[in-house]
Amino acid sequence: MSATAPAPETIIEINKLSTRFGDHVVHAELDLEVRRKEIFAVVGGSGSGKSTLLREMILLQLPSSGTIRVLGVDLQDISDADALALRQRWGVMFQHGGLFGSLTVLENVGLPLREHTELGDALIDEMAHWKLALAGLKPEVGAQYPAELSGGMMKRASLARALALDPELLFLDEPTAGLDPDSAAGVDELVLQLRDLFGLSIVMITHDLDLLWQVTDRVAVLAEGRVQGVGSMTELARMDHPAIRPFFEGPRARSAQPHKRKPTRQAVNASTPGPLEEASSKPK
Ligand code: ADP
Ligand code: MG
Repeated sequence: MSATAPAPETIIEINKLSTRFGDHVVHAELDLEVRRKEIFAVVGGSGSGKSTLLREMILLQLPSSGTIRVLGVDLQDISDADALALRQRWGVMFQHGGLFGSLTVLENVGLPLREHTELGDALIDEMAHWKLALAGLKPEVGAQYPAELSGGMMKRASLARALALDPELLFLDEPTAGLDPDSAAGVDELVLQLRDLFGLSIVMITHDLDLLWQVTDRVAVLAEGRVQGVGSMTELARMDHPAIRPFFEGPRARSAQPHKRKPTRQAVNASTPGPLEEASSKPK
C-alpha cells in the first residue's frame, strides 16, 4: 500500500448506541464502524444483541438512543422517502429465508424489482433468473416454491432476492446455519465472489468459525452490550480479553483455525454450547 492510499471509506458508523427492553439493557453505548468492500462479521453469545443490532441497521427497529449512519444517511429521524431510497441500496438475507411461501422462487426474487422499478414482467423475470444464477441456483429452481427447497437452496434463493436491486451493501443473518458442510462451503465462496466481483460490502452475523476464518476481513465481538474487540480473526486470536479469549479456546475453536477447509465444519453454537455461549450468555 502506498503512503498516499486513501483511508477506507466508512459505510456504517454506529455511535453510543443503546437499546433497552424495559430495564433489560441489550446495547450500552456501543460503537461500531464498517468499511466499504469489507466482509465484516458480528459474533457474540446467544442473547448478546446481534440480531437486534442487525434490525437496527436495516431500519426494522429503533434503538433507545445513539446514532446509526448507513451509506452516509442518519437513520434516526429519517423521512419515509429517504428510508425507501436507502432500503433499495442494501439487500438482506434473513436467517430463515423470509421468502413468501405462496410465490415461486422466481416471483420471490423478482418481487423487489416489481415493487421498486417500472420494469415489465419479461425483463423482471430475466433479471430474476440472472440473480438466481448468481446465487448458484439452476434456472428450473425458479419454478419451485420455497417449501420444496433444501436448506441450502433456500439460503441461496434468499440471497438471490437480496441481490435483486444490485445493492451496495449486503446483510446476512447466519448464512450457513443449518447447512451441510458442502452447502456451507458453497456459501463461503459465494460471499467472497460477491465482494470481489461486484465490490459489495458485507455485514454478517455468524457463529460459523470456518466462515469467520475463511472469508471475513474484520470481526466484532459483542458482549455485555458493547463491542469488546474488533479486528481480523488473527488479531482477535492474539487479544488477551476475557470476553474474546474463550472464543479461540476449546477443541472446536482450535480445529477451525487453520485456513484450510476441514471436512466437517466447526460452529460455536452447535448442539452443545460452544465457548462463546458459555462466555457471554447469562441467564436472564
Ligand atoms: P442475539 O441475536 O445476539 O442472540 P438478540 O438481539 O436476538 O440476541 O436479543 C438480545 C436480547 O434482547 C435478548 O435477551 C432478547 O430476549 C432481547 N430482545 C430482543 N428483542 C426483544 C423485544 N422485541 N422485546 C423484548 N426483548 C427483546
Ligand atoms: Mg440472533
